Amino acid sequence: MSHFPIQKFRNLRTPFYYYDADLLSATLAALKEAAPEKEFCVHYAIKANTNPRILKIIADNGFGADCVSEGEIRVALDAGFEPAKIAFAGVGKSDEEIEYAIECGIGCFNVESVPELELINEIATKKDKTIDIALRVNPNIEAHTHHYITTGLKENKFGIALEMLDDAIAYCTGQPRLRLTGLHFHIGSQITTNKPFALLCEKINEITAQYSARGIDFSSINVGGGLGIDYKNPDANPIPDFASYFDTFRKNLKIQPGQTVHFELGRSIVAQCGSLITRVLYVKSGLEKKFVILDAGMTDLIRPALYQAHHHIQNLTSTSTETDTYDVVGPICESSDCFGTDEILPITVRGDLFAIRSAGAYGEIMASQYNCRKLPGSIIS
Ligand SMILES: *Cc1c(COP(=O)(O)O)cnc(C)c1O
Repeated sequence: MSHFPIQKFRNLRTPFYYYDADLLSATLAALKEAAPEKEFCVHYAIKANTNPRILKIIADNGFGADCVSEGEIRVALDAGFEPAKIAFAGVGKSDEEIEYAIECGIGCFNVESVPELELINEIATKKDKTIDIALRVNPNIEAHTHHYITTGLKENKFGIALEMLDDAIAYCTGQPRLRLTGLHFHIGSQITTNKPFALLCEKINEITAQYSARGIDFSSINVGGGLGIDYKNPDANPIPDFASYFDTFRKNLKIQPGQTVHFELGRSIVAQCGSLITRVLYVKSGLEKKFVILDAGMTDLIRPALYQAHHHIQNLTSTSTETDTYDVVGPICESSDCFGTDEILPITVRGDLFAIRSAGAYGEIMASQYNCRKLPGSIIS
């Protein structure tokens, strides 16, 4: 699957993101097969990658969008996502963002607190609109992922604690401008076993059964995203195992008659189709180590520095049959600007092109201009 157009790369200014449109389309086809539209509503989590050409391909395939800011709603609408299939999430929506989202007629607000409900109610009343609300519940589930991307534990800032859900529901019930349609959950990201998702299903079953017994039913359940990808072996596993992921929900979630089930997948849709392409500036010998110094750094791909993530590193142009051991680093003035330590690579020289793999999610969109650097470009083919 990693047939890079290396000749084309040679003349381009590095670093840049390369996206494999065929792999993205194949991933979307696999996703649709595993989650037929009649059965499940899949929203793409826009925050993972907002490259307009990527968004357009996903929108053209009929998926919904999960947005966390006014800017994301704008790029989603520009790319052709249907307003009714847009959910607006986030723990800190501003007044302007709520007004904008209401004007666009988005499908649903995923709400994280009573003060937020109060503000939405105030704005909806002023605009004489009725708003669909899903309450984000913090289910207190361990996702077994990096603690910066665990979101469903009691101590996380996200969602409404179960103990406080009654109050939020009672508030909605008393407001004619708010229509409580569902509950929303999201326990974390880069989750690589189905166990946490099965636990989430059990928790949801418990919660919905308790409310059902009191005469409160929800027409939608949103289980969030978080399905992980194989960062170690991008070529062996270019498409995540969507079938077993969705089967976990089929088997474990007690779906009530008429209830729709929503998913918000980001990383699993776009990560493997993207690579950061970068040139070797120098190979530098230290006292004990050799360093490959790339022209891409943490400003172009921050995941290693931010989450101690490791992306597979590939020398695309070396013809050497021998290997050496290198630390692969960027040019930024931070020691965390390191893509890999003790990487075994073919003998590397100045000018070699490298691919930092599985960079299609939380890559380009998280790029910054720290050190007054240019933002990376992108190509798709
Ligand atoms: C980030 C996020 C997602 C997408 O997560 P992935 O791990 O990329 O699938 C979905 N829902 C919410 C609420 C999020 O914050």
